[in-house]
Amino acid sequence: MKLDSARWPDLAGGAEVLLLPLGACEQHGPHLPFHTDAAIADAVARGAAGELRRRGVAGVCAPVLAFGASGEHQHFDGTVSIGHDALGLTLLELGRSASCWARRLVFLNAHGGNLPTVSAVARQLRQEGRDASWLPCQPSGSDAHAGRTETSLMLAIAPETVRLDAAVAGPSEPIGALLPRLREHGVIGVSPNGVLGDPTGASAEEGAELLAGMIADVVDSVLTGDVPKWDTGT
Ligand SMILES: [Zn+2]
Repeated sequence: MKLDSARWPDLAGGAEVLLLPLGACEQHGPHLPFHTDAAIADAVARGAAGELRRRGVAGVCAPVLAFGASGEHQHFDGTVSIGHDALGLTLLELGRSASCWARRLVFLNAHGGNLPTVSAVARQLRQEGRDASWLPCQPSGSDAHAGRTETSLMLAIAPETVRLDAAVAGPSEPIGALLPRLREHGVIGVSPNGVLGDPTGASAEEGAELLAGMIADVVDSVLTGDVPKWDTGT
């Protein structure tokens, strides 16, 4: 069930699980849209909510939060970041309000830059006695930003938004190796075209497979209650 198209009688009695997809409005190289992370989180949340329903769990998918903490991309015009403080307060209040009727909250985060805040908010909500956790929307082994992984996913989710003829590669070092320069100079300091990785070889088929894998992982985590221990707090 999608919250944005549901009516209140649909939610009378509450929901077992609310999935809250989190994205960003940030540059994704010359070939992918600003909405990339939001579109990916949204697709995972919708798919997972549908699969949970098929398995008998009352799962609801919230509208995607399409702004996040994207300060590292700010040198690229069009990027809109709300920063960590505003993101944290927003997530906290979303969580407090939604937990009045949803027994479990799971943030589905598709933008790595949101991570410290999402994790801290999930911990705080748990400390307040709410059942909150978060899961990443990032396939294992994926490249960092606007590379093959995200390009394949967008070819599967919203192919009309992808400009494959404009795709170019950026540095392919692991994100850990780029981090010191990235922190000091922003993404533009390590990749003038905004790409971290290489979109070469991306395909809709690969994207559909990656998307199905992420949906299966989320469903599995929700059904088993198995969230990474760094999410659970105390
Ligand atoms: Zn992204």
